[in-house]
Amino acid sequence: MTKDKINLDFFNKIIENDINHFSKISGGCINDCYRLNSDQKQYFIKINSNFNPFIEEKKGLKLLESTNTFTIPKVYKSGVEKKIAFLLMEFIDSKIPSDDFWISFGNKLAKMHSHSNKYFGLDHNNYIGSLFQENTLHDDGIEFFINCRLLPQIRLLSISSSNQLFKHFDKLFSKLNEILPNEKPALIHGDLWNGNFLVDNFGAPLLVDPAVYFGSREIDVAMSKLFGGFSDQFYESYNEEFPLEKDWQSRVDIWNLYPLLVHANLFGDSYLNQVNSILKKFI
Ligand code: ADP
Repeated sequence: MTKDKINLDFFNKIIENDINHFSKISGGCINDCYRLNSDQKQYFIKINSNFNPFIEEKKGLKLLESTNTFTIPKVYKSGVEKKIAFLLMEFIDSKIPSDDFWISFGNKLAKMHSHSNKYFGLDHNNYIGSLFQENTLHDDGIEFFINCRLLPQIRLLSISSSNQLFKHFDKLFSKLNEILPNEKPALIHGDLWNGNFLVDNFGAPLLVDPAVYFGSREIDVAMSKLFGGFSDQFYESYNEEFPLEKDWQSRVDIWNLYPLLVHANLFGDSYLNQVNSILKKFI
């Protein structure tokens, strides 16, 4: 079955309850998302007919849930039906944010980041968007960032080692030990932009669509700044709970080289302009 032929029968095969209505939800960049209605209940389902990222997404959601910090939507079921992979979840009717939404967000993220691990990486690989994300365990966070985050994306751009961009990255790598702090590994969401949170029943933040691993916590904080939308209260509250290393703002662009390269690979070379100007600033 192709995803454009999706119909009620398809969803009713997955869910025993009789689904009587479905509607497409926009906002996702990678998968097709739907709201499903039965007489008693609403569901949220993500489907993908090209590959199956949902086993890892489910593991990531469980890992975030295990920290008892953010509300995480319940996962009911994942699998493959008619060659289409799916992830069936609780439908979140996003509410109005409470007055202390951003304070709560900063505080919860700081608490989530206090969950550490012996190594950087994770016991399994996963995905960032539709791209493979390698999580090979490393002792050192900067080496992990170079080997498992920047280099795989640079290689995916299919540029040769004689390319100027490649040379600039090489220069940057030799400086990263002076620029980046060497903190403990922290459990991070891994794709924390403002399309990946909703508002729970208490008006507090709820996280979706993670690309989790144990990494440098500044990665989540930096990503929150990439497309804007997070209030200053968020950063103040985070810093009150778990202060960031001095001058963290000056490192935001470095960490964001990873999501920018991911965007260049997923959505086109225009993102390389930002990559180039960051590289020029630091080398
Ligand atoms: P993709 O993997 O394609 O990026 P997302 O997980 O980001 O998809 O979901 C797409 C959109 O659907 C999000 O921007 C969010 O608004 C909404 N969404 C995500 N999870 C739920 C849910 N459990 N209930 C309701 N809406 C959701």
